[in-house]
Amino acid sequence: MLSSAWKSVATSIETQLTSYYFRVQKLRTIGVRGMHSSLEDVKLESMQVKILPALQDNYMYLIVDNKTREAAIVDPVDPELVIKTVQEENVKLNKVLTTHHHWDHAGGNEKLVKLWSGELQVYGGDDRIGAMNQKVSQDVTFNIGELKVRCLSTPCHTTGHICYHVTNGQNAGAVFTGDTLFQGGCGRFFEGTPEEMYDALCAKLSALPDDTKVFCGHEYTLQNMSFARHVEPDNKLIQNRIEWAKLRRASKDPTVPSTIGEEKSWNPFMRVHEATVQRHAGGEKNPILTMGALRKEKDNFKA
Ligand SMILES: [Zn+2]
Repeated sequence: MLSSAWKSVATSIETQLTSYYFRVQKLRTIGVRGMHSSLEDVKLESMQVKILPALQDNYMYLIVDNKTREAAIVDPVDPELVIKTVQEENVKLNKVLTTHHHWDHAGGNEKLVKLWSGELQVYGGDDRIGAMNQKVSQDVTFNIGELKVRCLSTPCHTTGHICYHVTNGQNAGAVFTGDTLFQGGCGRFFEGTPEEMYDALCAKLSALPDDTKVFCGHEYTLQNMSFARHVEPDNKLIQNRIEWAKLRRASKDPTVPSTIGEEKSWNPFMRVHEATVQRHAGGEKNPILTMGALRKEKDNFKA
């Protein structure tokens, strides 16, 4: 009786100490480097995705194949953090996946190649990407260890933008969407048209399995969701996600990933077929005109 009571006291102390330890660790990671979010691991079937915050609100992602421990890094704008993480995790980094040429995504490529001791294959879809040696386009495939990667060409934010869909060949896997698809939003149309963003979001990305995890290039969820609520004030899923995201951000936890199915349920730019969204955009029963009108409004929207 006594011994079981003691055991439960000991367990409770241990739990408290463990949670205290992790909280301190988290503060340390955020505090020392002044990061916008804590580092977090997402475990998927056959792979692990390590979320690495960078700059003001960017995310880099280390994708690890569980079987071979081969790894790829998405948009390594902070090469020092990438190298430190690769060494700590003891994985074999040999690929860089670049979503687009903007400096806050591709700006670390050359430095990483210079600092890295091994050979790196640097993928991208735009000649403006530094250190690129593997130019890819729609439906090009390659491997990370035994994981399979398929490239989706999604021009609009920039002309050479690529999203990378990574699976084990059976599961829905994960898609790395850069500045094309954000949680609850999409990137600005710097070098493209509403037709192109429609093709990217509503044809190519919407065709992935609903369970596909979406890892996007920035922590913009609260701002985007606030616009989504403005477009569809009665959409309960948007309201719930805002409450959830507020809690996450209060403790600097990342809000990524979401899923393709979730984006279809709350992201206005993926919902341009819906009557509610079309009505908001001025009654146009045309998804592409709706896409253009929404983007214009969002460009000037103050959350
Ligand atoms: Zn960009």
